[in-house]
Amino acid sequence: MLIIKNLCVSIKGHSILKELNLSIKPGEVHAIMGPNGSGKSTLGYVLAGKKDYKITSGTITYNEKNLLELPPEKRSELGLFLGFQYPIEIPGVNNGYFLRMALNSQRKKRGLDEIDAPDFIKKISKIINLLNIDKKFLSREINYGFSGGEKKKNEILQMLLFKPNLSILDEVDSGLDIDSLKILSKGINSLLHKNRSFLLITHYQRILNYIQPNFVHIFFDGHIILSGNKDLALIVEKKGYSNIINNRKKSNN
Ligand code: ADP
Ligand code: MG
Repeated sequence: MLIIKNLCVSIKGHSILKELNLSIKPGEVHAIMGPNGSGKSTLGYVLAGKKDYKITSGTITYNEKNLLELPPEKRSELGLFLGFQYPIEIPGVNNGYFLRMALNSQRKKRGLDEIDAPDFIKKISKIINLLNIDKKFLSREINYGFSGGEKKKNEILQMLLFKPNLSILDEVDSGLDIDSLKILSKGINSLLHKNRSFLLITHYQRILNYIQPNFVHIFFDGHIILSGNKDLALIVEKKGYSNIINNRKKSNN
């Protein structure tokens, strides 16, 4: 589904991603863990197509297409979704209206009928109930005045509505209380399917108690330095990143 080969990315002359390699097959859940500033969010942004980044070398193939040639809206249409680490507030834009417009825009591009307001309400109400969020979410302005946890719930609400093939969730767990974390995990798990894949970017092992990853990657200095199964996350939790990073450095010397 996604193949990243020798990807190097810089911003304003600073090299951030360095020879990154990662392959994700349909149905797989990959977790990326790593210290602050290692380039995890940059990877999410590059996949989603944010401007400002210079791809200096390497390739990204998404379902046999050259992802780097596609504009962000085309990537979204093809089922790629990024849940932001810091969701932006868009005052003046009604959340429910935006969600319906965005959903219909995707459906139209895929040759499906548009969903009318009553059907949309039915659809979104199910998700709202699943995520245990207030119906007022829909009548509010996008993320405006939302608490950190509410913003994260709004990202997952979008994801459950759009049903993407590849969801990249950037620290969806940070700032969440334990009940919200369980509920969000339930929402994410409800989307698991043999054709859908997830890239969970996180600092903490905790979310992986609720969402089982097939692979855990340790990210440092712009690339993956170690990959393993879910037990690797437990080792990180116990030993910390610096221990693992130093061990890798030693074994490479
Ligand atoms: P992470 O998500 O792993 O914490 P980021 O991808 O957000 O890391 O950032 C990686 C590095 O890139 C950091 O050192 C950050 O300061 C730098 N960086 C990100 N955006 C910019 C920018 N616009 N200008 C300069 N440096 C940037
Ligand atoms: Mg980040």
